[in-house]
Amino acid sequence: MKKVALHWQIAIAIALAIIAGTLTGTDASLFGVRYHAAYGFLGTLFLNALKMIIVPLVTASIISGIANIGDEKGLGTLGGKTLLFYFSSSLLAILVGLTMVNIMQPGVGSNLADALSGDQSVAEVLTKVEGKSTADVVEVFIRMVPPNIIAAAAEGQMLGLIFFSLLFGYFLSRSRSKQTEVVRDFWNGIMDIMTLITLWVMKFAPLGVFGLVAKTVSETGFASFQPVLIFFITVILALGIHSLVTMPLLLRFLGGISPAKHYRAMSPALLTAFSTASSSATLPLTMECLEEAGVSQRVRGFVLPLGATVNMDGTALYECVAAIFIAQAFGFDLSFTQQFTIVVVALLTSIGVAGIPAASLVAISIILGVIGIPLEGIGLLMITDRVLDMMRTAVNVFSDSCATAIIARSEGEQTKLAV
Ligand code: ASP
Repeated sequence: MKKVALHWQIAIAIALAIIAGTLTGTDASLFGVRYHAAYGFLGTLFLNALKMIIVPLVTASIISGIANIGDEKGLGTLGGKTLLFYFSSSLLAILVGLTMVNIMQPGVGSNLADALSGDQSVAEVLTKVEGKSTADVVEVFIRMVPPNIIAAAAEGQMLGLIFFSLLFGYFLSRSRSKQTEVVRDFWNGIMDIMTLITLWVMKFAPLGVFGLVAKTVSETGFASFQPVLIFFITVILALGIHSLVTMPLLLRFLGGISPAKHYRAMSPALLTAFSTASSSATLPLTMECLEEAGVSQRVRGFVLPLGATVNMDGTALYECVAAIFIAQAFGFDLSFTQQFTIVVVALLTSIGVAGIPAASLVAISIILGVIGIPLEGIGLLMITDRVLDMMRTAVNVFSDSCATAIIARSEGEQTKLAV
């Protein structure tokens, strides 16, 4: 029998999950076991397996990636290109969001703000985000240098872990002593093993994805979307433009890459990003997809983990649209300077947003605080947040994969994605 490709298996799992989740809701059960609990079990098991891989994979990938780059100059150019690309693509994404939210005006003329008072879930979120301010932007840079690297790894502080791994890899590549050769082999070996473990975990992706999506659908249903429908559509359109127009143009003209081939090669990672709403958890799959596409470990190992942590185009775009939507709903007329501030703060905070579900809500509260809009507005986002989270996470992962593929081409790699 011919094997169904992984991305098709995942796509079918998502379709089945939507049907199953809608049919069962949260209460239906079979032999006393609630379907909802069974979905949760499958989903959590898969997510845990992915999270289990992340720390050793990211560390090994960066250390062996950098150690193999070798000379100082090669690292400098690669690093420079990567940061420039990440900065530009996030900025482009935010500008698309800014334009769309100004055209569609999803919050204008509605009495959405009134609908918020007394909502229980809003109160819950508020306790989480209260007291966040611009100081949290500085916090991002402080976190980059963790006082305790083991604690950073244990708490999933990827920024700190990456910084340490970069230093480790860099000095490993500079050391000429005989003793460090064994260290280089050690990390290359860990990288090989982590790749094999990832491949194995990926086989369970359809099951895990089924559980995650069915659980979400059984909880939210579809009826709750109506009040914020235009906002929902605005975000989807803006994400669509970024991932179906802007990025493909960059792929084609900057990297000489066929967007169709790229989408196909990345689809298992994109579908997993969609289902898990976590770009960190998806990293092992993204890594694998790019390896199969023929991108070298040297480029992949450096560009991708960095991107999964600091480059979030979908999140940056969402932050901008959401903040302006809330301002509109509260009747604020934002000046050019205020909109510009939103763009800058969205760009900065998207660097620090963790690659986990619903992480941007905190960043959005920082933006609201900076321009003086009531934090209660966050409540407006709760209804649609999960679905939009799934979509923006897929865009986050897509952008990282584009950056890696384009940079690989600029380094003279042929890859299987070239036109
Ligand atoms: N869930 C997103 C991610 O993992 C972050 C966010 O926008 O909430 O990439």
